[in-house]
Amino acid sequence: MIEKISHIGIAVKDLDAAIEFYKTMGLEVEATEEVPSQKVKVAFIPVGDVRIELLAATSEDSAIAKLNEKRGEGIQHLALKVDNLKQELSETAEKGIRLIDKVPRPGAHGADIAFLHPKSTFGVLLELCQEKKNHS
Ligand code: ZN
Repeated sequence: MIEKISHIGIAVKDLDAAIEFYKTMGLEVEATEEVPSQKVKVAFIPVGDVRIELLAATSEDSAIAKLNEKRGEGIQHLALKVDNLKQELSETAEKGIRLIDKVPRPGAHGADIAFLHPKSTFGVLLELCQEKKNHS
């Protein structure tokens, strides 16, 4: 079941500069974390019960670095919180929706995540995200 919007992923070139901007806007960074499997460093900024996830590449062959080069900075993905990622993935596949990740992979914050293919989602890179318990 999809429960809510978990976070909005924004690709940036300079994480510290982007963090400064959001601080100027009066928001606080909850945590920063490196996600080696995706070659990114992320910062989570809560806005109400939704988070902004700033993503900056830690390597030139990171998907985020390639995206920044191709499309520039900006909104990169929308993450939907699900209660059971494995079940959601198999149901989504059964409905004929294309998946980038057929099995969950580790994301930031100890969450399990999987992406749907933008060709199936009207141009939006959708992430399904099962957050670690006690982290709403
Ligand atoms: Zn995300």
